[in-house]
Amino acid sequence: MFQKVLIANRGEIALRILRACKELGIQTVAVHSTADADAMHVRLADESVCIGPPASRESYLNIHQIVAACEITGADAIHPGYGFLSENAKFADILAAHNITFIGPSAEHIRIMGDKIEAKRTAKRLGIPVVPGSEGGVTDDKEAARIAGEIGYPVIIKAAAGGGGRGMKVARGPEDLSIALSTARTEAGAAFGDDAVYIEKYLEKPRHIEVQVMGDGAGKAVHLGERDCSLQRRHQKVWEEANSPALNAEERDKIGMTVANAIADLGYSGAGTIEFLYEGGEFYFIEMNTRLQVEHPVTEAVTGIDLVHEQIRVASGSGLSVRQKDIQFNGHAIECRINAEDPRTFTPSPGTIDHFHTPGGLGVRVDSGVYSGYRIPPYYDSLIGKLIVHGRNRVEALMRLRRALDEFVVDGIKTTLPLFQDLIGNPDIANGDYDIHWLEKYLAKAD
Ligand code: ADP
Repeated sequence: MFQKVLIANRGEIALRILRACKELGIQTVAVHSTADADAMHVRLADESVCIGPPASRESYLNIHQIVAACEITGADAIHPGYGFLSENAKFADILAAHNITFIGPSAEHIRIMGDKIEAKRTAKRLGIPVVPGSEGGVTDDKEAARIAGEIGYPVIIKAAAGGGGRGMKVARGPEDLSIALSTARTEAGAAFGDDAVYIEKYLEKPRHIEVQVMGDGAGKAVHLGERDCSLQRRHQKVWEEANSPALNAEERDKIGMTVANAIADLGYSGAGTIEFLYEGGEFYFIEMNTRLQVEHPVTEAVTGIDLVHEQIRVASGSGLSVRQKDIQFNGHAIECRINAEDPRTFTPSPGTIDHFHTPGGLGVRVDSGVYSGYRIPPYYDSLIGKLIVHGRNRVEALMRLRRALDEFVVDGIKTTLPLFQDLIGNPDIANGDYDIHWLEKYLAKAD
């Protein structure tokens, strides 16, 4: 087991990882920018190192400084959290060269899954169902028209290097295709420095359902069920649930085992998430994230398994603590992402939190790095916390969410809490009857 882990992140996830390390008896090193000197993860870590000015590229993305912090403190491993360097294959390579363990998959697997065309090809080869579309990138408009005709309109043009929902364009019919191709290429080139694009069938009303996996890197893997993250705004997840209201136990087991077997074949190590669109009873692979996800606590709530413990165990060579047959799915969990944003316009609302009071009681978990008197710096993501509730079934989880939201107090800044207060009273939400477009339509109506 590791002696000392450096946490290359900030905010609630840095604290989340720190807690897991403490439980395992591992010393912790926090790194922080000058803007985060007062942050909770810095206060609670055994040691801390300032790695640069506020701008992420000079601090949390500064590989050189992070490696130096590791060497100064003698940390033997780095947990990257999510975002920042978590899916950076070059970072994983550099750590290997310095004999520092990266708590995550191999650089090769990060690389494959970071290229969406390569990822899709790999998924298909491993028996994971994919969205019908081009086999690889498309460069020629005539070829694109032929493929689109074969799979049938509408189609979506996506960037190979894509992320954050950018560089995607829908063509409803042949007349839209060439303009969709050229705008997608231009956007992809500008956003990612790579204008390669591919074509997929556009699904009209899918749900976003993702499967959590853990591999031991030696040919064994388990799945920990799915999360339904269909409630999104601008492709950003807002509310996540486990299990999905759309699946029964048989469907869960079937897709879960398909994915776990694929991941085992790949020899994958650590935590990963296979994201699908789900429509008409069918799953369609869209991408794999080779890291811990923001919404992992809903999986922890229903399985009782600490995913960060498992990540650390696997990276240290201790293997997984669970076998597939030990994993059970109990009750229902919901997570709400609390952002420092205006709940209507979603414009960021940094500033000082005058008063912060979190709910408690049975089945309530709050993961947050903020506190009363904390000043939210304007440089980073606006996520300030996550409220996770667990109940014996979905109805109980919703009841608990309603009362936990009532108890939650964040004064001094705007947050997305009122949005959840609204959603909880909506019949579609109560029935679990929503797809990936539902929230945007709801917000447009409310305006
Ligand atoms: P990114 O890496 O940019 O987030 P994804 O491939 O994960 O891209 O897709 C992001 C979102 O775009 C999906 O959650 C879904 O809302 C939409 N999307 C992607 N592919 C399709 C498709 N084939 N049909 C319909 N919507 C899609």
